[in-house]
Amino acid sequence: MIRANEASRKSWVFVPENSDFSIQNLPFGIFSAGLGGKKVGVAIGNQILDLSAVEQLGKLNGLGFDHSDFASSSLNNMMRKGKEAVRELRNVISDLLLEGSEMEEHAQSILVDQLKATMHLPIEIGDYTDFYSSEQHAFNVGCMFRDPNNALLPNWKHIPVGYHGRASSIINSGTPIHRPKGQQKPNDTEPPVFGPCKLLDFELEMAFVTFEGKALGDSISTAEATDYIFGLCLFNDWSARDIQKWEYVPLGPFLAKNFASSMSPWIVTLDALEPFRVAGPLQDPAVLPYLEYEGDHHLDIALEVAIKPQQAEESVVCHSNYKHMYWNMVQQLAHHTINGCDIHAGDVLASGTISGPEEGQFGSMLEISWKGTKPFQMKDGSERKFILDGDTVIMRGHGIKDGVRVGFGEVKTTVLPAK
Ligand code: MN
Repeated sequence: MIRANEASRKSWVFVPENSDFSIQNLPFGIFSAGLGGKKVGVAIGNQILDLSAVEQLGKLNGLGFDHSDFASSSLNNMMRKGKEAVRELRNVISDLLLEGSEMEEHAQSILVDQLKATMHLPIEIGDYTDFYSSEQHAFNVGCMFRDPNNALLPNWKHIPVGYHGRASSIINSGTPIHRPKGQQKPNDTEPPVFGPCKLLDFELEMAFVTFEGKALGDSISTAEATDYIFGLCLFNDWSARDIQKWEYVPLGPFLAKNFASSMSPWIVTLDALEPFRVAGPLQDPAVLPYLEYEGDHHLDIALEVAIKPQQAEESVVCHSNYKHMYWNMVQQLAHHTINGCDIHAGDVLASGTISGPEEGQFGSMLEISWKGTKPFQMKDGSERKFILDGDTVIMRGHGIKDGVRVGFGEVKTTVLPAK
């Protein structure tokens, strides 16, 4: 077992009950506080451990990291050191935070209250890919736009279907977005119109961030894939359904998707999620050999989405779970690189909308309101078919096992009127 994951570990830092940031988690992020610059931090309870301050005390010597890796505006330099180095770094951080560690004497100089810090986008994202790997989501969309007997396209159970998205518009939690504008075609007989999107939607997703991969031309097998995955975050892949419907033929998503995607600020390492590994669904028909895998690579992560109207309390509109994926991360990465496509430290590969098998578990308003035919009843008495101006969409996720909770915090985005 990875040392930092031991369930018996307790920290000298106070960790509230139900905190996502137990000593068994130790996610990495980029923060700033006061007049200081951006730095690498690790969340613990309601605090942030300032890794550049810990490094200055000489406590990270011999691990292969430099001060500049932690006094940095992204996690990329740290990630370039690779899986083994980051695993040992996390183990050492866990030891330093362990009850009885002499580090407690330095608490004042190494801890920052999360309420006094600003979180930033943690990754300098090179490339972004979005998959379409939840069977229920693909089935629901197929039912709405084709028919239930023909819902999944013929390739779906053979290929982890995906597309290349755009890295430039991936934003940090807390950054508001403006309702996008674009072309829509309201019906078959009239010509297209231009204006603010009327069917703005979220997509509940998780994304994984990669370490440096192999050279162009080489592939990463399913057996090797976990060595190339740094960690995961919550991911809201904003979608303009009316723009999408008109533009997507024949080359797929474009302006309906690239105006914004929001990611949570803490990257939870794949190591920290080890205890939450579960078996995936039986894949039938059998997949081609390069997509076969051994071991459990699905993760039991409870997910929820809430909508908070401008002047009212939030309503939870979806409870889902990351374990509901048909294709898992190691299959996605093996497929992505099977043609020799190279990946680099800081690439983001998102899951696609994560919908569970039952109503109440659907990961987008398109499915929750069934194309707008079944409005969702909010706690404040209002209805939602899609997202309104002034709404804040909040996604949360965590795993819990043997009394240990490892969570992601939240990703939160407010929608402003079109510019
Ligand atoms: Mn998506």
